[in-house]
Amino acid sequence: MTALHARRRENLAALLPAHEADAILVTHAVNVYYLTGLASSNAAVLVRGDATATLATDSRYIGAARSVCDDIEVIEERDVAGALLAAEGGTGGSGRTGGSGGSGRIGIEAEHLSVAAYVRLGGDPPRLSEAVESVRTVKDEDEIALLRTACEITDRAFEAVLPALRPGATEREIARALERHMAGLGAEAPAFEAIVASGPNGAIPHHAPSDRPLERGDLVTMDFGARYRGYHADMTRTVAIGEPSGWQRELYDLVRAAQAAGVEALRTGTAPHEVDAAARDLITGAGYGEFFTHGLGHGVGLEIHEVPFLSPRKPERDHGHARLEDRVPITVEPGVYLPGRGGVRIEDTLVARDGGPELLTRTTKELLVL
Ligand code: ZN
Ligand code: ZN
Repeated sequence: MTALHARRRENLAALLPAHEADAILVTHAVNVYYLTGLASSNAAVLVRGDATATLATDSRYIGAARSVCDDIEVIEERDVAGALLAAEGGTGGSGRTGGSGGSGRIGIEAEHLSVAAYVRLGGDPPRLSEAVESVRTVKDEDEIALLRTACEITDRAFEAVLPALRPGATEREIARALERHMAGLGAEAPAFEAIVASGPNGAIPHHAPSDRPLERGDLVTMDFGARYRGYHADMTRTVAIGEPSGWQRELYDLVRAAQAAGVEALRTGTAPHEVDAAARDLITGAGYGEFFTHGLGHGVGLEIHEVPFLSPRKPERDHGHARLEDRVPITVEPGVYLPGRGGVRIEDTLVARDGGPELLTRTTKELLVL
């Protein structure tokens, strides 16, 4: 894994000159993991313009750090940011002095650095907005393979939970069953708290599972996913408990067609808002535009929501990824939510590829009548 992480640090170092930074202090735990392979709740890594790096972590993780990151310098200190700044000749911190010191202008992760560390840096350090996130956007095939496994676990958990989808079972019971199946199939954790929304609750896109029992005549929306070795799957299916009524089937067919249109538009070279429009235009054309209240999708990887975001708006910052690129995992998840009545959402995790999108969540999108 060492060569992989070294290559990632090189990609990050290449971004520094454009931000007039000579180094970057990376403090976001997921980004530290991405750049070094060390999973911890307290670590930071300083990456210099020449792609050399120093990692700091505390005594709980120092053994793991020394074995996982044997190609970079490691400092043991509880105040990880302070130790790295001190080592680089910055102010404050109780860490080691000297060493490879003198990195010049040390940039920060604007979204992630603590105020205490920011104050210690003094002056006006270069603020790098989502620099590591930008490097993370395009995945390598090893990452995509982990995501594929996360999605396989998710598909199989869905299949396993189907017999439990009966009148009388509560939303909460279904959510816990999904999480139990995913764990049994090898997930290290749920990618996020499962959403199970039945009947009128289906009109709430982020409904938290309740004690409401499923009833005949409900549409039930389940949005869930497995996390596998750090990578997050994300899938939504809506099923019918008993024979669906006319409006339910009509709504399902519309959302399914919109989802297919979004997937069809998921071509490399396309701008995110154009993909959103491909799905949204169908829903708006059918008169339900005001009930599709969120963006069409989002990138996935080490975090459940990553750039790029598929939404009607052009992004304020494009992170150098203004158009979809090869090997970018992303979700397509249109939904229509009718207050007081219910809703439908259908979501897949896919990978944008030059040859056309690769579908990772492979559960059927036929309306299942249970
Ligand atoms: Zn989802
Ligand atoms: Zn999603």
